[in-house]
Amino acid sequence: MSSSLIQLECGCNNYPWGKKGKESLAAQYAASTPGGNFKLDESKEYAEMWCGTYPTTPSSILSTGEDLQKHLNAHADQLIGPSILKKHGTDLPFLPKILSIAKALPLQIHPDKSLAAKLHKQDPEKYSDDNHKPEIAVALGKFEVFVGFKPLEKIEKLFTTIPVLKEKFGVKGKLEKEGLRELVGKILGASDEEIVGVYEKLRGMKKEEFGDEGHITDLLPRLAEQYDKSDPGNLVALLTMNFLVLEKGDAIFVPADGIHAYLSGNIVECMARSDNVINTGFCPRADRDDVSLFTNALTFSPSSGEDALLKPTSSNKGVYGKTKVLAPPMSEFNMLVTQLGPRDKETIKAIDGPSVILVTDGKGTLKAGGEVQSAKEGYIFFLGAGTELNVTSDDGLELHMAYCEA
Ligand SMILES: [Zn+2]
Repeated sequence: MSSSLIQLECGCNNYPWGKKGKESLAAQYAASTPGGNFKLDESKEYAEMWCGTYPTTPSSILSTGEDLQKHLNAHADQLIGPSILKKHGTDLPFLPKILSIAKALPLQIHPDKSLAAKLHKQDPEKYSDDNHKPEIAVALGKFEVFVGFKPLEKIEKLFTTIPVLKEKFGVKGKLEKEGLRELVGKILGASDEEIVGVYEKLRGMKKEEFGDEGHITDLLPRLAEQYDKSDPGNLVALLTMNFLVLEKGDAIFVPADGIHAYLSGNIVECMARSDNVINTGFCPRADRDDVSLFTNALTFSPSSGEDALLKPTSSNKGVYGKTKVLAPPMSEFNMLVTQLGPRDKETIKAIDGPSVILVTDGKGTLKAGGEVQSAKEGYIFFLGAGTELNVTSDDGLELHMAYCEA
């Protein structure tokens, strides 16, 4: 028998869009692991802490140093549980992360299952998975994000009334989905000079000229400073995508093939087990993937900012009503969010599958399967299938718990 409540040691990656040194919440969390090996380097960017078993940044068991996936393989029946074993095998089917975002992430989509299978077959080095990667992002504070396309009428209005856009991209009449696909392709395929030309013209416009989309004026120079005036991501994001400013607790769902680019903030992210991505903007030209690969795969969901939001609902898994659930329309995971005040408690009923718990605020105690562990912001735990979890807080405690149930 393995213990069911296992504290993990998780690694961070250093993508250049991450926050630097101890400014990064991901780095702070990695550094908070008691007795862990992580050494925070103030000169490095820390973008993402990965809390799972994906092989490029695998988590290990804090007390023994053993690789978590190896441990799960050896105790699969107990820890993964028979129903999830049957459905997804021994690999943890989901991957939670903490992201600390200082500047825009590449403008991206994650291919759906059939495209992922095809790309993986063609180029397994670059596309490491044959799986889809729908994801959710939950704000831990102010979170700025571009997600999905604006309603078509809004895009049409910009491209048919602003002279430089009208002239350059030639949107005629009513804009339909396929017309939008073509338009995005045109922007992404334009030369650096053409993009800079459009950028300069838009920069010269007054806020009022953008109607109810005044954020375009504010964000144009900010984005250009992060990458370059010549980056087509600036135009795709500002002119065609929804821009949302979320507050702590707000969440979005990005389906497979859904266009997105996160701009700033600290978030909890969770996705199906995959690391496939197609990038076309907010990155150097050399790192951009093929424009037609990107545009052909694009989906038009979500179709408005409101449509991208994933609303929490109350969960019957929390016995004392302190727990909500974020349930994206996919089977690999849901996420429970438990919030306790001072000297408060919650019991989370046994889940018929594996869970990963991220302590995202406060301090307290977790009890499960006879084990008692102290919990503190930044600590990460694996919880085995079929185990009830008792949570108590000191001055307050917040948990994000990703789980998979058949
Ligand atoms: Zn993504």
